[in-house]
Parts: sequence; structure tokens; C-alpha cells
Amino acid sequence: MGGLGFRDLRLFNVALLGRQVWHLIQCKDTLCYKVLNAKYFSDGNIFFPKSMDKPSFSWQSIAQAAKLLSEGFEWTVGNGNSIRIWQDNWGFEGLSGDSICINKSLVKEVFVRYLLNESQDGWDKDRVSAIYGDFLGEKICNIPILHDGLEDRCSWFHNPHGVFYLKSAYSWLILKEIGLGPHRIFWRIIWRLKTLPKICIFCWRLGHNILPTYEKISSFRSGFNDTCPRCGKEKETLIHTLKDCPMAHKVLEFGGLDNKLLDGNYLRRVDWIEGAVRILDIKALSDFITGTIKINFDTSVHDKKAYYSLVARDADGFVLGEQTGYVNKDVHIELVELQAMEESIKFARSKNWKNVDLESDCASLVNRFNRRQEDLTMLGHRLGEIKKQSNIFSQFIFCWALRSCNEAADALCNWARTKNCCMVFNVDYPSYIHAIVLNDAIN
Ligand SMILES: [Zn+2]
Repeated sequence: MGGLGFRDLRLFNVALLGRQVWHLIQCKDTLCYKVLNAKYFSDGNIFFPKSMDKPSFSWQSIAQAAKLLSEGFEWTVGNGNSIRIWQDNWGFEGLSGDSICINKSLVKEVFVRYLLNESQDGWDKDRVSAIYGDFLGEKICNIPILHDGLEDRCSWFHNPHGVFYLKSAYSWLILKEIGLGPHRIFWRIIWRLKTLPKICIFCWRLGHNILPTYEKISSFRSGFNDTCPRCGKEKETLIHTLKDCPMAHKVLEFGGLDNKLLDGNYLRRVDWIEGAVRILDIKALSDFITGTIKINFDTSVHDKKAYYSLVARDADGFVLGEQTGYVNKDVHIELVELQAMEESIKFARSKNWKNVDLESDCASLVNRFNRRQEDLTMLGHRLGEIKKQSNIFSQFIFCWALRSCNEAADALCNWARTKNCCMVFNVDYPSYIHAIVLNDAIN
């Protein structure tokens, strides 16, 4: 995994823990949920745990991750019983306790259900407008109310389907910190734009907040007036120059930019850029992130059973999927390797991946594959079939990897052996191999 550049381990870890958070949000009938729920968040809201004297180490980690990720989650309104209007993000992006525009002491409502009308089938429009003002009030009143008393649901903002993904959580966390360190994906997009170099450079300076706005200049030159020279109304901050200044606003509007981007309230330019990237080109972004997929597979033979496993990762080391399985007979190890290879190709095809690098630490199989034309054995024939199947990919490489590069697949294989099972995972691989995946990713 050489040449990966900077990776923020701490944030990666938070994103990994985020999966546990997501699991607790989604799966309330597990034993784990029941235990933690009883002990640490009896009201069912993982984002507002009780304070405890001696919480367990694992709970501490989860609670910490929940706190860091909480802004990335939003509540979809059901019966309104669980959503707290002061603490939660809910309804649509940007709606939270901060959106309440009247004096705090005048708002006695705690949960969203208090904003509904008496028959609970619509919004109490007058009250909503009084609390949130006309603009937001109207948007809130447009949120549909479900009549069958569904529970409120929590979903992840940064995925069109509301599902939490490690990758999107990690990207999101990094973007949040962009002021501290450059975000690789973001910068790679910028540098790849087919546009004038000066535009890329401008974006780069923008992201690093090194443009000489008046606000910036006034921070090191005393007595310098930081008011925007164009409108003379507000401080000339980056976000003001880019979108809030009437002139900039008009230009963006003319360019057909989404209303949410124009009128949304963004504190930091990074949030705005992130919003823009997300809205303008979600597909391009995801294609970009996907790139070449690397699949490692491994096998082991034990007690007349042969186990295999495969681990698929993107160029950044994010695990995209895994599979384990076994064959119930005493077969030659090369045949098991072959089966694992076939499964890997099947797996990649099922995901519609286009560029696939396959890696195995079984040198003999790699050699056979690359010299299959001269191989008249059954194995040679099957390798030829595999080659045909791989023609569907735009790029396909099969190469040998050091055993140490194959550790995640190896560990998963052992896992399959101890559990004696066939499994397919997507990004939710067993916690057992977290550390190995992390280690593989940074090495
Ligand atoms: Zn201005």
C-alpha cells in the first residue's frame, strides 16, 4: 500500500467505531444493544448517553465516536417522540437547535411531537413559524407526517440512501478537518479538473484559507478595515466573498446553483465546498473514489475441509466487501486457491467493478495463470475459463503478493475456520479483523 500519503489514523478509527454506532442505531434487538442501552442510554438515544463514573472502555470509545459523528446523522420524522428539537439534527440538512430563532426561554417544546397539531397528522403551522421564522417554518411544514405512528428514524446524511458507510464517514470527517490538513480525495479532484491551472490553484488556496480577504489582512494588520469593499455591509470573509455577498450571490444564481447551496447557512467555507461537491457531482465523486479495486484471497485446509476467504479493498484500503466459504472435502490446496480465485471474480462482477487487481500469496497459481496457454491439465483449462470471465473488466491483473500483504484475507480465513461458516460481508466485516485492516491500510 505504498505511496498512500497522509492518512489520519485517528479519524479512520472514529469512522470504524462509527459502524458500531450505526449498528446500535439500526439493530435494537441485539443483546449488545440491550446491554448498552440499559446501562448507558436508557432513553434510547445513543447521542445523549448518561454520564457514568466508570464506563467500560469499549463504551467510552463508541460514545466518543457517536459524539464526533453526531452532526453527520439526521432524524427522519416519524411520530416525533424521539427527536429533541434542541439537540438533534432532523428533517433536513441544517435544521437543529441552532435554527430556533426566538428566545430560548420562550420555547417550552422539547420533542418534535410538540410541534404537531392536536390530531398529530400535520404541523402546528403557527407555532412552527413562531419558533423557526417564516422561511424555515415553511420548509418544516412541508416535511410529510406519516400517519401510522412510525418511530423516528436516524439516518446518515452523507449517503443518498441514508446508510452509514465507513468510507463516507471517513471522507466527511477529513473534510471537516480540512483546515488542518489537506484532504486527498478532494485535492485529487481539484487537480484533475480539466480547466485552467489558475482555477485549480485558486481552489487550492481557497481550501487552505490563504486568500487575502480583508478579514484575513485585518487579522495581522491593525487598523485595517475588514468590511467587504463591494457591498460594504459585512466582513469580507471567504464565505462572504464566495457566496453571501450580493454580487457573488447573483453570479452563482445565474450559474444555476442549487438553492440549498445558495441560501444554506454555512459557517465554514469547507462545509460549503463539501456541500457543493456532494450536490453537483455525487456520481463523479463516487466513480473517482472507486478506481481500481484490489482483491486478496487466501485459503487454508483443516480437518478435511478447505476454507477460503477474499477481501476487496479500494485504492485507499477501505474494505468494500468480503466473503468466506469452505469446501467439504479433502482437495489439493491449488484447487482451493482456484475456487477462491473464481469466487473473487464472481464477487467483482456482482459489484460491477471495472478495474480489478487480484492478489494471492500462492505463487504456483499465479505462475500457472500467466502460462496457462501451455497448460493442458484440468487446472490450466479452468484458468483459461477464468481468463475469459475476466474479460468483462476494463483492467484485470493477477499477481503474487507477500504473505504479509495478505493478512486480512488470512485472518478472515482463520475466522471462517473457527466459525465454520460461509459469509458475505459488505463494509461490515467482523470486528475481529479491524486491527489487521487498519494495519494493512497504513502500511
Ligand atoms: Zn460583500
